[in-house]
Amino acid sequence: MIVGIDDTDSRSGMCTTYLCTVLVDELKSYGEVSTPVLVRLNPCIPFKTRGNGAVAFEILINDVRALEREVKEIVKARVSELSELRAEGTNPGVVFIDDNASNASFNEKLKRFYESAVREVLTIEDVYAIISELQLDYFGLKNKRGLIGALAAASFLLLHTEESYDYTYELIVYRRKERWGTVRFIDDASVWAADEATYPLVWDTVDVANKKLVLVPHSPCPVLFGIRGDSVDAIYKAYGLIQAEPDERKLLFITNQGTDCHLMKSEQLQDFHSYILDGVVDSNPMTIEGGHVLFSLTVPGGEVDCIAYEPTKGFRAIIRELRIGDEVTAYGSLKEGTLNLEKIELRKLNLVVERNPRCNMCGRNMESAGRSQGYRCKRCGTFSAVKDKVIVERAIETGLYEVPPVARRHISKPLVRMRMGDKIIHPSR
Ligand code: ATP
Repeated sequence: MIVGIDDTDSRSGMCTTYLCTVLVDELKSYGEVSTPVLVRLNPCIPFKTRGNGAVAFEILINDVRALEREVKEIVKARVSELSELRAEGTNPGVVFIDDNASNASFNEKLKRFYESAVREVLTIEDVYAIISELQLDYFGLKNKRGLIGALAAASFLLLHTEESYDYTYELIVYRRKERWGTVRFIDDASVWAADEATYPLVWDTVDVANKKLVLVPHSPCPVLFGIRGDSVDAIYKAYGLIQAEPDERKLLFITNQGTDCHLMKSEQLQDFHSYILDGVVDSNPMTIEGGHVLFSLTVPGGEVDCIAYEPTKGFRAIIRELRIGDEVTAYGSLKEGTLNLEKIELRKLNLVVERNPRCNMCGRNMESAGRSQGYRCKRCGTFSAVKDKVIVERAIETGLYEVPPVARRHISKPLVRMRMGDKIIHPSR
């Protein structure tokens, strides 16, 4: 049986992955429990507490007939006990998928549901429709919105190998209860050493350019730190090197983090969706109040503003180097009609810059003689109908650039994971 769970936490405490870890430990006496999954769903969803995560695990119950009901009761009891039910936005949901339920049409429906949960905005009615169509058992509290994430996580667990979804791992380490809400003790130097010994199989542990640890959350939740990567061995090696306060427990998750599976190619752009857009820069970048950098991109459907927010730090220096006419591919989420950049590929740099013509008598720049009237040198009276075209050197190279780890979304793919592809990459370190 697969158990999917979501929306149990609030900003002031708990974490759905911790609840999953407690359940996995408790249910081991009822049967073999799989490596759980942690999925990140649409990162633009307004209801999310933090990273729009949901979890699922599979349990092969020793004696299904005798024990299935008991296992479900334990899941419901722990979700009811450990959820932050007093918080307004906490709406827990649990979905159960039976062992024999899977078949081609069932899986196809779950595939569509999972992909929509990562890329679209769903309603509670959408999840009820599929739960009733597939006759799934479920449990929920308050408005039960967590059923959306719970079913998406259960679907990913069922399908991730069959559908060849890209996946990565995270080892999440939890604090002892008496320390929850207090300052976390982690020896910084040991984290840098662990990174040195395991990067790039382990990534997003530290941010080199910004000199920050990024494996530690800043909320009062039970998580001490999480180690992300492509290799389970490298992750455990890093864990072994990190010195920190004693942990209560830890659990490895298979995840869709670092995979970019939220991004779509489409000409119909909608807010709260994330895209990969090919286009041509049509305004030179401008730094606006707050240090954010903005430019406009011509795309097949029209024009879209793209922004690199201040927290993307050094990434803005790349964006500031763009010039009108550069051919780029922009990666990011659309909010209020503006694409929040996560990555950019500079495909072709415009090396030709147009500027007011030089007077061939005195060598000074001519001035505009009026709209569509050409250019004139006031001093010498010389005239030119068109601007000069000048070949310029550019301070950047073509290739893919990314925001640094401090600004990276859980679901965004670090460029270091693209190292086997055919693209030129410029990882942020
Ligand atoms: P944390 O990262 O700490 O676990 P969170 O950011 O995951 O917190 P949740 O508490 O899980 O936030 O809240 C997200 C809510 O949004 C859940 O109820 C989930 O079911 C719902 N949700 C997830 N994806 C979508 C979607 N694509 N459309 C509509 N609702 C969604």
